[in-house]
Amino acid sequence: MEKIGFIGLGIMGKPMALNLLKAGFAVGVLSTSKASAELEDAGAKTWPNASKLASEHDIVITMLPDSPQVEDLVNGQHGVSSGIKAGALFIDMSTISPSVARNLYQILQQKGVEALDAPVSGGQVGAEGGTLSIMVGGTEGAFQRALPVFQAMGKNIVHIGEPGAGQTTKACNQMIVGMTIQAVAEAFTLAGNAGVDLAKMREVLLGGFAQSRILDLHGQRIIDGNFKPGFKIKLHQKDINIALQSGKELNLSLPGTECMAGQMKAAMDQGNGELDHSALFLTMKK
Ligand code: NAD
Repeated sequence: MEKIGFIGLGIMGKPMALNLLKAGFAVGVLSTSKASAELEDAGAKTWPNASKLASEHDIVITMLPDSPQVEDLVNGQHGVSSGIKAGALFIDMSTISPSVARNLYQILQQKGVEALDAPVSGGQVGAEGGTLSIMVGGTEGAFQRALPVFQAMGKNIVHIGEPGAGQTTKACNQMIVGMTIQAVAEAFTLAGNAGVDLAKMREVLLGGFAQSRILDLHGQRIIDGNFKPGFKIKLHQKDINIALQSGKELNLSLPGTECMAGQMKAAMDQGNGELDHSALFLTMKK
């Protein structure tokens, strides 16, 4: 079995790394990480920096907040690229910009290292249960090599296409999710102000064409006033900006996504960046 170095042990990364250990992979993590002690207890080895960790593992996985952190971790001092050996595989599972993912692919190729962009959907519950959806960009050979590793963390695993295609797919996912939450938030605002019972409305609409997991789960959150994350507004704002930037690079107008960016900014201005994205509802005038 290939040895895996895992960097970024946050809400998502920690349970993903634990699932790799459960599946029998040898896993190494950074000793500087807050969660490293917990991972050590579960059988992981610790390493002092990303360069050293990369030099000792066949596959390096990152699960970091955004593009600058991934770029820095790969290209920075004591970064992955200074230690990783030809023939190794680099997999970034964070949600970052497709153009940054393509750039990292090129940089690592020059070192004889294949790279995959493999962002995920399914949230903390999916990470803990090993049921993530994983959307992958990169070569077929690298995908086949990584498949047993992905299968320890996810269920719905699709090789989308060339480098960057996984990140583009994730940006599209975030557009659909964001605009659907906004639709539910607006409908609930109209209904509430018109004196319609929101619970009854949700119940009947779940049986028709407006049915969606977002109407179901986020609709219930709005009714309960429960905005504990879940998926934070600040991360969704980052993803909407990635979608807008990707649209710009292709000379496309994405009016709904631009509107979403405005809503995300309004939620951030309210100080709600740490709340669940269903808190977009709170930006609506009552
Ligand atoms: P998080 O903030 O909980 O975790 C990020 C981790 O990276 C933290 O532990 C942080 O300490 C670590 N980190 C940051 N910079 C680092 C560096 N230079 N070296 C080593 N570690 C570093 O975030 P998360 O919720 O786990 O999300 C990670 C990624 O997954 C993001 O791109 C996010 O958009 C995406 N994502 C999150 C969810 C979700 O529901 N939380 C769902 C799907 C995708």
